[in-house]
Amino acid sequence: MDNLEEAATAIKMHDNFVLTTHINPDGDALGSLMGLGLALLNAGKNAVMIMPHPIPVAFQFMPGSRQVQKTSDVLARFDLGITLDCTDITRAGEEAQKVLQRAGKLLNIDHHISNQYFGDLNVVDPQAAATGEIIYDLLLKAKMPVTSEIATNLYTAIITDTGSFQHQNTTAKCLRTAALLLDCGAAHRVVQQHLYEQRSLESLRLLARGLESLSLNEEGTVAWMTISRDSLYSSGAAVDDSEGLIDYVKSLKGVEVGIVFKEVNPSEIKVSFRSNNYLDVNKLAAHFGGGGHERAAGCTINGELGDIEQLVIRKTEEQLFAMNENSGGPRK
Ligand code: AMP
Ligand code: MN
Ligand code: MN
Repeated sequence: MDNLEEAATAIKMHDNFVLTTHINPDGDALGSLMGLGLALLNAGKNAVMIMPHPIPVAFQFMPGSRQVQKTSDVLARFDLGITLDCTDITRAGEEAQKVLQRAGKLLNIDHHISNQYFGDLNVVDPQAAATGEIIYDLLLKAKMPVTSEIATNLYTAIITDTGSFQHQNTTAKCLRTAALLLDCGAAHRVVQQHLYEQRSLESLRLLARGLESLSLNEEGTVAWMTISRDSLYSSGAAVDDSEGLIDYVKSLKGVEVGIVFKEVNPSEIKVSFRSNNYLDVNKLAAHFGGGGHERAAGCTINGELGDIEQLVIRKTEEQLFAMNENSGGPRK
């Protein structure tokens, strides 16, 4: 992979690091942050991991999560800033951008196809299933030991970004890396228990509200679910509890694109896209200022929920229609 050697050298040469990842972090974001952060700390370096908000409860089992500091509390200057799993620097949040800009150099490690190559050094591999997979290669290259704690973080990163090895990004390479992480002592059952066997009653009630809202276009190719402020309120759930609901939407027979609209704040709608076989949802999300991968992407749009639903569904159908036209018939 391009630049991996240079990144390994940069990590060995510097002693004073600040690391961060994207807002609304997922398992890959946090697993990469704490996997690399703990490796640097174990090597006797000063490595400060920062996030603007507390780590979501579901991920607090991950080793190192108590060492992550609040971004606004960090005023120091660092030699090297590292962003993990961020398509562009704005994804790190406003406060983190300031801390990163004060750092001597910026290293951008990511696997999104829409990455903006904003670092002084960029390690971007869209073939990697998760940023955590790149971190494993980086630690090997830098000859830094992968302890069981680091392995659990990187394993969580791979499990969450592949949907437990179900998504199209599940490659032989990522399965091999996962196996090597188990050899290093990754706690497979602990990860499974915390991610998939600890659901709150509220989150299951939110699933029920979400399923009630499920809609389908006329052709049955686009399905969408709506998580409104009302459904959050009536179920007693938090926005974080809606993680994973999109898998139900895209599992419907005949559906190519699954969409979830979440009213994260009044007039602020987070949209998640997944496609099953052929529509490039990274392009679709980019149309609304977002990004991601070909089969999983997202964006945030300001406006009223109903208006945004209409706008996004129309654009999705337009792009599906254009693809089908170009390929001379419905794609399978
Ligand atoms: P989500 O639907 O939030 O699970 O996101 C799916 C994928 O798209 C993840 O890889 C995210 O990192 C990426 N993504 C989500 N929202 C954005 C955004 N606003 N800009 C760039 N990438 C995004
Ligand atoms: Mn991510
Ligand atoms: Mn990722």
